[in-house]
Amino acid sequence: MHYSDKFFILEIPFSDRASVLNVTTCVGALIALKLNPEDFVNEFKNLQAIALRLEIKTGINNCILINDFYNSDVNSLQIALNHLHQQSRSHKKTVVLSDIEHSGQTNEHLYQEIAKLLSHYEIQQLIGIGKNISQHEKLFTQEKLFFDSTADFIKDLHSKNHQFINSTILLKGARSFEFEKISALLQQKSHDTVLEINLNHLTNNINYYRGLLKSKTQIMCMVKAMGYGSGSSEIAQTLQHLGINYLAVAYADEGVELRNDNVILPVMVMSPEPDSLEDIINYNLEPEIYSFKLLELFNHQLDKSGVMDPYPIHLKIDTGMKRLGFEEHDIEKLGDELLKSPLAHVKSVFSHLAGTDNPDLDEFTNEQIKLFEIACAKLESKLGYSFLKHICNSGGVSRFKNAHYDMVRLGIGMYGVGVNKGEQNKLQNVGSLKTRISQIKTVYKGQTVGYNRNGKIKKDTTIAIIPIGYADGFKRELGNGNFSVSINNVLCKTVGNVCMDMCMIDITGINCKEGDEVIVFENFEQIKSMSETLHTIPYEVLTGISSRVKRVYLQE
Ligand SMILES: *Cc1c(COP(=O)(O)O)cnc(C)c1O
Repeated sequence: MHYSDKFFILEIPFSDRASVLNVTTCVGALIALKLNPEDFVNEFKNLQAIALRLEIKTGINNCILINDFYNSDVNSLQIALNHLHQQSRSHKKTVVLSDIEHSGQTNEHLYQEIAKLLSHYEIQQLIGIGKNISQHEKLFTQEKLFFDSTADFIKDLHSKNHQFINSTILLKGARSFEFEKISALLQQKSHDTVLEINLNHLTNNINYYRGLLKSKTQIMCMVKAMGYGSGSSEIAQTLQHLGINYLAVAYADEGVELRNDNVILPVMVMSPEPDSLEDIINYNLEPEIYSFKLLELFNHQLDKSGVMDPYPIHLKIDTGMKRLGFEEHDIEKLGDELLKSPLAHVKSVFSHLAGTDNPDLDEFTNEQIKLFEIACAKLESKLGYSFLKHICNSGGVSRFKNAHYDMVRLGIGMYGVGVNKGEQNKLQNVGSLKTRISQIKTVYKGQTVGYNRNGKIKKDTTIAIIPIGYADGFKRELGNGNFSVSINNVLCKTVGNVCMDMCMIDITGINCKEGDEVIVFENFEQIKSMSETLHTIPYEVLTGISSRVKRVYLQE
């Protein structure tokens, strides 16, 4: 910002256009009120994202649906269009819009303004529903169709005159237009079993961790393994919107998928395989270099791909994890090799801590931190330029504030799993695994339930069959009463062996019917309980929900 012969730097934690415009207006007002910029420029970075009432669902034919049926006015339309813009990837952008009632402007004015917004956001197709919007069809320049009522449009959908394919569709209608009926038709008929991902809770968790960092410390978010099971592109789009600095994936193909879905943030690839180095360069991904062999291969590929400008790489130092990385005694030679081939430019140097969540290991952790600092100092003096340094994972962000350096790598924490009780209270659960009762039956004393007749019935019992099995990540060890799911807040134990696609639960005395919702987990305690039953950790529970389970995204 340039004002009254001075330059000011004003940082905000968002990148979307509406937020930038809002901030500009706000600064204008502050200056008009004669406030001194020095007093307020530093406050803007503390702004927090507010929740929207939008719902994102997977549609038919590879479409994405964004539902916003709550209110309908020009402002909320603009916010929704901005969201559509963020989520649309390489898709065609379609808006289904009802009449806007009680706008306080003349219809001519109103629809002119809307036409301008639609062309600003490059909307390629408009479906207008209602008599008023239909009367102004001439104002709209994109591909368009108009209907007098929602019922007329639904009739048209049924007749299959046209189809939605590979589109991101914003459904934005006033309450009375009942757009939920359109949504139900366009939504993919998913299995009853879904993993519901709450993007507002993800935002809350990111804000919590941001609060622990100095304002200059950057955040790299780990979206490896399908975003710890939550979905990669959907999570990445949200993180991009939140102004996160870096993403990291395990393999190149995960990064390629992000690029194909229009994610433009820098992406570090942690396990670059020799065969994937060409793709890494083609898709502008940044490799983690952990060995001399890999450095040589990558330098060779830079040559082969005809790269002319310095290309960012990230060096992994092993400070005690004994996983990938250069050892302390490699540093000298590493510096020499890097000087020989300056095309590979060291963007960052990092290491990974083995026990940030365990206070018993703090001495070892501090030792790792010390080794890391020594290695960085050596490399820096050798190379003659500086680079980003990072070592903290989620647990490190909370417990090793002296080691945040230039960047931290956030993983499990943003998905809602904290390092201790105090932190757990500040985090919100992101993934909820839900299903529905397929069938209810009574089984009598002496009968058995499931394979191998393992579910022996000792007194008359009502059971429900639910469509989730070990192929969905509901592991066999959870069977035979070892785990309980909940229906209307009442816990119901499993009965007999878990099958591949379903399992049986005891619902004796519980008020419920076929089609009712069953919660497998929706909070940290339930994830923890499942992981304890399975003798594992929440990481494995979350990443173990198989890709057959549909992910549904909520943004309220
Ligand atoms: C997965 C991973 C992280 C994130 O760890 P969390 O414990 O989930 O925060 C950080 N750094 C590296 C190198 C990783 O592989």
